[in-house]
Order: sequence, then C-alpha cells, then structure tokens
Amino acid sequence: MNLLDRDAHCVWHPYSAMGAGQPTFPVASAAGVRIRLSDGRELIDGMSSWWSAIHGYNHPVLNSAARRQLEDMAHVMFGGLTHAPAVTLAERLIDVSPEGLEIVFFADSGSVSVEAAMKMAIQYQIARDCPGRQRFLTPRSGYHGDTLHAMSVCDPVTGMHRFFEGVMPRQVFVAPPAPRYGEPCEPIDLASLEAALARHHEELAAVILEPIVQGAGGMRFYSADYLAAVRRLCDEYGLLLIADEIATGFGRTGRLFACEHAGIAPDIMTVGKALTGGYMTLAAVLTTREVADTIGRGDPGLFMHGPTFMANPLACAVANASVDLLLESPWQARVAAIEEGLRDGLSPCAELTHVADVRCLGAIGVVELRAPVNMQQVQPLFVEEGVWVRPFGRLVYLMPPFVMEEDDLAALCAAVVSVVERLVEWEGYCVPAGAGSPI
Ligand SMILES: *Cc1c(COP(=O)(O)O)cnc(C)c1O
Repeated sequence: MNLLDRDAHCVWHPYSAMGAGQPTFPVASAAGVRIRLSDGRELIDGMSSWWSAIHGYNHPVLNSAARRQLEDMAHVMFGGLTHAPAVTLAERLIDVSPEGLEIVFFADSGSVSVEAAMKMAIQYQIARDCPGRQRFLTPRSGYHGDTLHAMSVCDPVTGMHRFFEGVMPRQVFVAPPAPRYGEPCEPIDLASLEAALARHHEELAAVILEPIVQGAGGMRFYSADYLAAVRRLCDEYGLLLIADEIATGFGRTGRLFACEHAGIAPDIMTVGKALTGGYMTLAAVLTTREVADTIGRGDPGLFMHGPTFMANPLACAVANASVDLLLESPWQARVAAIEEGLRDGLSPCAELTHVADVRCLGAIGVVELRAPVNMQQVQPLFVEEGVWVRPFGRLVYLMPPFVMEEDDLAALCAAVVSVVERLVEWEGYCVPAGAGSPI
C-alpha cells in the first residue's frame, strides 16, 4: 500500500472524518518557505504551519540548537528537577513580554496552556476568598483551543458548542469587538461588555481574549482602544485579564506581542505556536508575582497542574534559539514589508462581488468570502497553483513565514487571487452557511 492509502486507512487528521476522502498531500521535506511533496512538487508556504514556522523550515540555527541539546538530554521530568534551557527561556520570555509578567509556567501545547491559565485564575479567586468566581467572560468569535475548558471560551457557533453542551462549562459571551483595528472605540462599542460585567462580575474569575487579532474564530482585527478598555474594566471589577497570545505572539501582528498595540499588560498571558519557531510543541503561561503569591497563600497552596513533558529541554533549547533568532533579525521591517506585499497582492480580490472583505495586519492577510469555501475542492486548486493555503469557513488567509522574499510573496498572493476569482462559480466550491470546516 502506498503512504496515502495507509494514511487513509488508520490515521485521523485534524477536524476530519475517517473515510471521507479528503485530499491529503504527502510531504517529503520542507526548507525555507517551501514544502516539498513526495511527488517532487514544491509549494510556497502561506500558513507557517498554523502560525508557528516564522523562520521557515529546516533552519540551520534551530537545527543546530536541537542537535546540541540532544547531546545533553532530550528530556527529564520537571518535578524536582530543573535545567538551563527552561530557566533561560523563562528569563527571556519575562524580558520581552509586557511589564509585570514575572513568572513562567511551561505547558506542552497551546490548549493546555489555556487550561492552566484558566485554572490559575480560578485558584487565584479562591485564594482571595472569592470561591464563587469560577466563570469566564469572553468576546464571541474567539478561539482558544480544543480541550473542553478551552473550547468553552471559543466562539459558541464555530466552536461547535451544541455538541458538547452537557459536559462543557457555560461561560459569559459578549459581542465581538466592533471597531476595527485603527478605529477608535466608542462608548456604544463597550455596551455589551459593560452590561455583562455589571450582571456577572461576581461569578467571573477572569476575562479571556485574543488581543487585537481574533484568529481561528474569524480572523478579525479589532481596535486597540477596545483592548485598553477591557483592561480598565477588569481592574474596576477585580477580574484578571488573560491575554491569549498563542497566535499573535512573537511578531505576527507587527508588535512582538499584540498587547503592545494597546500599551497594556495582562495578568496572565499564554504563548505557544511560534515559540519554538514551529519545531515542536511547547507553550507557556506567564503571570504576575501577585497572582503566583496569592495562589501560594491560598488552599492548597499549590498550583494544581503539571504536564509530563513540562519544559521539555529539547523544545526549550529550540525556543531559546528561535527567540534569539527573531530578536536578532530585522523582524519589524520584514513583517512591515510582508504587510505591504499582502495588501498589494491581495487587493484585486476586493473588486470581486463574492468577496466581502480584504484585510491585512502585520504578516496576516485575509480574504473574507460571502459564503463558506468547500475545502475538499478548493485545497487541490491551491496545490496546483504551487502554494500551500488552507482556508476555513468563509476565510482564505495567509500568514507566511517572516523570511519570505518579495517575489515568493507576490507569487503566493497571485495564486490566492487566481483561486478566489474562480470561486465565483459558487456551486461546487462553496457549501451552505454554517457547514464550513472549522480549520
Ligand atoms: C492555536 C491556538 C490555541 C491552541 O493551541 P494548540 O497548540 O493547538 O493547542 C489557543 N489559542 C489560540 C489563540 C490559538 O491560535
């Protein structure tokens, strides 16, 4: 049996059904901004493997960091033991992250870091003698991961809450931020949030949101003033603010962390995805000494979480190399150039009647269609064009590695324009509203 048949027989892919015959492409290798398929075709990468491979693939600096660490150890448990890669990474993260975040808790994936962040907020409120504060407020259109508690704060519609109602905690949802990035936030834009806070604050542990860019829940870019207002309201009501920077962290929006657009610091921040430059899975929760000390003084006096592969040395070593590589590179200029390239390259889409919106921020470009894309049929069109792009719902979006050169970016955008133009033949390429695949 060939690889594809073996795969189809027993391997379950993300958000997919076994036996549904979704197009799947075997990869032989990847280097720089190109993914090489087993049949020899090369695809320009428009996805950075879900926001993570910011330096491109097979990077000599990251490869050598991994090799060096392998000589010492791939892994040791983190209970009762520590090691230089973890301590160094914690110090680096504290150094570059918003003011006041001084403590790092490592986790093994983004979703797990969100779980840890939520448990941290609950334990904090218990330790402050507010045991009734166990729920979370969040804007709709968000995405925070796939485990049950993380799912509970994802958008209820795209997050498929209706299938999990019996087991998922019920959170407090408010309207998604209305003012777009760059626009001011008017009092009316805060009405939903203020009403929900006034009504529910005594049951709430924290507000959780993705700062500035709502990613997999809708690819929306919203006003920095809205984020600043959320910070102010959290303080007024004694709530923690959890900023989920898993997608936005490490430069993607043009700032190192998206919170910087609003000049705010959260009480808890999650990072993941680009943390290891896309090499392996690692995430972290950063928090303030105040939160950590309060939990320490409460009952049981411990933070109740500890993954088996917490602070995996190999992942930490690569993360250290990746953060250094980013900070030593002209990343601001690169991201700004990508933003301009995306704006230029995707602009022809804005003329199309079946396109609702085209928007770009940092190294993110989004073409929002009026109806959801049928990914099964659209995905192969992108591959035929020589690019790797994976739309979801009504969104065709690009988030290329920061190292992408101008000509590759132009080719990537041209391929998107070419495919999106063809989508005007709705039948076949689009499916009814609500039936889109979530990722
Ligand atoms: C991807 C993502 C997560 C989940 O991370 P995983 O590593 O997939 O578990 C959480 N929050 C945001 C904002 C994300 O983009």
